[in-house]
Amino acid sequence: MSYSSIEKRLAEGKIIILDGGIGGELQKVGAKMDEGLWCGRCSLDSPNELLKVHQNYVKAGADVITANTYASTPISMKKYGYEDLIKECNHKSIKIAKEAVSGKNVLVAGSVSTYGYFMKDGVAKMKPSFDEHLKILSDTGVDLIILEAMSSQADIVETLVECSSNLRLPTWLSISCVFDKNKNIHLGYDDDVSHKDPQVYEELEDSLHRFKKFHSGPILVAHSNMSVTEEAVSILKNNHNNTVGAYPNRGHFVKPEWKFTEDIKPIDYVKSAKKWIDSGAQIIGGCCGIGVEEIKAISILKN
Ligand SMILES: [Zn+2]
Repeated sequence: MSYSSIEKRLAEGKIIILDGGIGGELQKVGAKMDEGLWCGRCSLDSPNELLKVHQNYVKAGADVITANTYASTPISMKKYGYEDLIKECNHKSIKIAKEAVSGKNVLVAGSVSTYGYFMKDGVAKMKPSFDEHLKILSDTGVDLIILEAMSSQADIVETLVECSSNLRLPTWLSISCVFDKNKNIHLGYDDDVSHKDPQVYEELEDSLHRFKKFHSGPILVAHSNMSVTEEAVSILKNNHNNTVGAYPNRGHFVKPEWKFTEDIKPIDYVKSAKKWIDSGAQIIGGCCGIGVEEIKAISILKN
């Protein structure tokens, strides 16, 4: 399958299924998580387990799977002492994802993220890393890029989007959203177990106007609580002149592992996914804590 068939299906109003989280599924099969790089080294340390996770998502009905490159950003690999493995690790991740889709009508997305960045680094320091990661992944032949700018402030997202603007590959942008005290939706994240102290950044609607300058492709609400997802999708739909989508999360991160709190059954996930579709989402999947069972369940919504 080529990306043009995805575009055709989207133009016909059809639903595209994205995979779920990779790190959580790797944990479930016993892959070792790295203290700094989380699941980023699994492509080298647990390749068989990673292949199995991708294959499970393909079997579950995913149209697009995401290579395990979210955490293997050049800046994070340098930070945690793996500078000499940057290319090898990312190439291996793509190779394993491609093996999983071999002979199937499924595309491979390369994830370029803000993993390993801290606000104190400043956007100027991040730019070379974004450029390097985009080049490595696009040279390796992925079908599309997902800019997983989740949990970031608008200026960081804007920098990442700007770096990708000359890419020849289709590019999706995913962002994380939270409610502020007045129930307005902002960029931000809420990974704390108590959900009492979310990080709240710029208002979503204002941010979308900023991203427009450089990004006209699909935008997805990702790594967000399910409670905020439906309304965030509506805001995207009303302010973005292209496809919108959703892949929220469940649980929270306690280094170096994802904790699967919040008991959401696959059937409940389907009910929520129907609401995102009603609000305009055409690409649906899952982020951290959402696994193969949930993706299998929502794949019945494909039309
Ligand atoms: Zn996530």
